[in-house]
Amino acid sequence: MTTSSPKVALVTGAARGIGLAAVRCFLADGWRVALLDIDGDGLAATIAHLAAPERTLALPCDVSDAGAVARGVGAIATRFGRLDAVVNNAGIAVFKPLMDTTPEEWQRVLAVNLTGPFLVIQAAVPLLRDSGGGAIVNITSISALRASTLRVAYGASKAGLAHLTKQCAVELAALGIRVNGVAPGPVETAMAKAVHTPEIRADYRDAIPLGRYGLEDELAEAIYFLCGDRASYITGQILAVDGGFDAAGIGLP
Ligand code: NAD
Repeated sequence: MTTSSPKVALVTGAARGIGLAAVRCFLADGWRVALLDIDGDGLAATIAHLAAPERTLALPCDVSDAGAVARGVGAIATRFGRLDAVVNNAGIAVFKPLMDTTPEEWQRVLAVNLTGPFLVIQAAVPLLRDSGGGAIVNITSISALRASTLRVAYGASKAGLAHLTKQCAVELAALGIRVNGVAPGPVETAMAKAVHTPEIRADYRDAIPLGRYGLEDELAEAIYFLCGDRASYITGQILAVDGGFDAAGIGLP
């Protein structure tokens, strides 16, 4: 397969938030992008707004559905003929302590946040390999680095994803595929608006040296860097983009 055609990225959870900001970075640099999201209506609206029909592909899909993920990657092969980067960004948050988390909530958070990236990586590797290698970036969380109450399922899923990142980095290096993670601190998105109470917001402000939430674009820049050739010797790493939260070591309640 030639490397002369524009590169192709697959971004999950691309209809809004951090995923959409990453899509914009790829498009701005001439890439073609497959946007995958469970929210088909939101995806359609996003694609229309991006106004780049020849360089975008909408894939309505639940990342926890192996068959749907395989069909999505097949559609990328048919439409674009190659794949150079995968961003496993789709995720859900249930903020509850251990004793309030139902088995159904636990299973769903694990299915979307951990099994989803596993399925996407398995489906994408043959096309990445046939395209000459590439990069995978998994979006974990500072909740993977620090334990706290309220995040039992979410934190466990993201810690699992952080380790999956390292496993895949070691195994896929021989195929020329780099695998890294980005661990966001709190970012002003629909997810944060849904689960961050005023108390949680105050706790974060006190624990983050830069004293504010991150912006979607600040996360997207880190994701895009790790997907590109400038990160050619970086694999198996989790980059915290968190305003200094992890460095400061101030715990959340
Ligand atoms: P968001 O809720 O704004 O966007 C997530 C997108 O993923 C949505 O478009 C949603 O429809 C999609 N999605 C959800 N479940 C899906 C599924 N099963 N299959 C396909 N798509 C699905 O969230 P965000 O804040 O932009 O978060 C993006 C990623 O960053 C998530 O993995 C999240 O856990 C992580 N993260 C966010 C924050 C934060 O404060 N916002 C902090 C740390 C980590």
